[in-house]
Amino acid sequence: MQGRRYRSLDAHLRDVFGEKVQKITLDAGSTCPNRDGTLSFGGCVFCNAEGSGPGCSLGSLAQQWERWRARYAAMPRLRNTRLFLGYVQSFTNTYGPASRLAALLSELSSLPGLAGACIGTRPDCVDEEKMALMAAQPWREFWLDVGVQSMSDATLGRINRGHTAKDTETALRLAARFGVKVCAHLMAGLPGESGEDFLDSVRRLAALPLAGIKLHNLYFPKGTAVERAWREGSLRPLEQEEYASLAARALTLLPSSVVVHRLCADPAPNELAAPDWAAQKRETLDMIDAVLSYNDWWQGKFCDCPENNPFK
Ligand code: SF4
Repeated sequence: MQGRRYRSLDAHLRDVFGEKVQKITLDAGSTCPNRDGTLSFGGCVFCNAEGSGPGCSLGSLAQQWERWRARYAAMPRLRNTRLFLGYVQSFTNTYGPASRLAALLSELSSLPGLAGACIGTRPDCVDEEKMALMAAQPWREFWLDVGVQSMSDATLGRINRGHTAKDTETALRLAARFGVKVCAHLMAGLPGESGEDFLDSVRRLAALPLAGIKLHNLYFPKGTAVERAWREGSLRPLEQEEYASLAARALTLLPSSVVVHRLCADPAPNELAAPDWAAQKRETLDMIDAVLSYNDWWQGKFCDCPENNPFK
């Protein structure tokens, strides 16, 4: 936690395993009820062709895993990394029968060097049977990544999510009952939302059983409804400074125990239509750090109110 003002995933994993753990993004060939016609065909207004994943789906999970491990082995910074966290990101990976999730978990468990896993889903695609399956996994780090995006039903309707804030509450309480850790994904800059609306969602999530958070700035992927709205002039992206300020304020409202998996979006190469700054992830992270330092803010300062920054 040295030098940080929040509990980053990297620091958390070093605490748990005593060494660097690198995340590997995987595509399990899933689909989504909001894309296959069950709820809609169009999907969420920001969903790209890869189901909000990076598009790395070539081959089996084992083949993707080996490709990524070879790539990391060639990087001086990661050459000696031995442990990896498998992140099954694209589409809705708990959608469909529980047997499909069981097969996915079994495939994951055979990957060499697997320290744990994160399974991406949406709040209306979890149930007791699936949570029991997840709870039975032996990995020390196991996360259910739940796309929440907003806790406002009006916003969820505008972005065509096809679920409600109540679904999110139910999913988080169900996961907690089974001891499954949830990392919630939340977006700033959604259509029709102010910064205060975003912070209201943060406050509502902070009151739920939450173990992790991913904050994203809304960007406009090519070929999506949000790109069309931007080109027509009916939707504007947040400025980079505006987002950095919102993300920093969000951190102050989250319990200091919550693990911060991500603090800004990371568009895949060639998918970004706007804003240009969304491609400057490092710059955005530095800006968030600067806002925290300038204001002497830290994660949880206005939530669980520690008198001093516990991350120093
Ligand atoms: S829930 Fe995820 S995969 Fe499904 S339409 Fe929305 S962003 Fe795309």
